[in-house]
Amino acid sequence: MSSARSPASATVAVDGDVRVPFTRLDNADPQLLAELQDVVARVSREAAFTLGAEVEGFERDFAAWCEADHAVGVSSGTAALELALRGLGIGPGDEVIVPTNSFIATAEAVSAAGATPRLVDVDEESALITAELVEAALTPRTRCVIPVHLYGRTVEMEPLLALCREHGIRVVEDACQAHGARYRGRPAGSLGDAGCFSFYPTKNLGAWGDGGAVVTDDADLAERLRLLRSHGEATRHHHELPARTDRLDALQAAILRAKLERLDDANERRRAAGGALREALADSPVAPPPPPAGDGDHVFHLFVVRSSRREDLRQHLSTAGISNAIHYPTPIHLQPAYAELGLRPGDLPVAERLAHEICSLPVFPTIEQSQIERIAAAVVSFG
Ligand SMILES: *Cc1c(COP(=O)(O)O)cnc(C)c1O
Repeated sequence: MSSARSPASATVAVDGDVRVPFTRLDNADPQLLAELQDVVARVSREAAFTLGAEVEGFERDFAAWCEADHAVGVSSGTAALELALRGLGIGPGDEVIVPTNSFIATAEAVSAAGATPRLVDVDEESALITAELVEAALTPRTRCVIPVHLYGRTVEMEPLLALCREHGIRVVEDACQAHGARYRGRPAGSLGDAGCFSFYPTKNLGAWGDGGAVVTDDADLAERLRLLRSHGEATRHHHELPARTDRLDALQAAILRAKLERLDDANERRRAAGGALREALADSPVAPPPPPAGDGDHVFHLFVVRSSRREDLRQHLSTAGISNAIHYPTPIHLQPAYAELGLRPGDLPVAERLAHEICSLPVFPTIEQSQIERIAAAVVSFG
């Protein structure tokens, strides 16, 4: 049998049944696939592949959807984070606070900007960064915090924003897993100085390749981001600063624009599926993700449960035909890439414990009730 990650595994029979796939991409929806193929055909006929009307149109729509004044399309979520930091003037000598329980890109962006990530532990209940954890990690060099709305769950932003305001620290939200999640009625990404999004294909809003965006209400920052993503070019052949090629492709922008129209509905389906799965697992041997706190939201990019016997659980689920994964097996501070920071096992104990206990179950907008029931049955039978 192919590995659980392979797309082919989505249709591999187990015990005469079909696996519950981990997620579904656009090729699983024939109508959407045809619509997006028409979009690709249209853009390719026009041969307008970089910037231009498609990118501007998507940026307008995405900014409005995020209730922000500006959106700048870039080449990936990692680029969005790096350019947001550089656009805010953060670089060598500066420290940026990052939760160690995240995808490594959050820290990499800090390194790419020339600054130093200061990795901190997370809250046991939410698995997210909190104002208290940030406050304990402040140093005279702290210039910025990157709250990560991990799995699609919103960080408790109000106390964090107040703390950062008090200390003159910037807030760059990593909303790469949280498109459309709302905190006190406001979309994730619109709360800090800048909000960063990834359009990697499996994200809640996914392109047909890589892409990203930064949203902000700061017109000067938006202008700098437009320079930073494209050779510092202010007007044709006039380069204000040395930069790079970090643009969002027009083909991706056009695809994203079409998919944005479906995103509220897709998120609503994710919330419903996540809620149903949580309820179905209430009396099971695993701990389902807690409901979002009063002011928060969860758009279930991932549905993450905890078990002290995680490896056995994974084996049991795989045998039962339930795809599963770990996000993420190694906290950033224990990755070889960040050995230079000098953190050791035991230093950030909550995130380390989570890394041993977490297991991501299937969740996606078109998941069926029968699939939710099969996931729950498999988990409940894990004795
Ligand atoms: C996906 C992701 C990123 C990076 O996005 P890319 O588009 O893959 O570069 C950053 N942070 C988090 C939390 C992510 O999930």
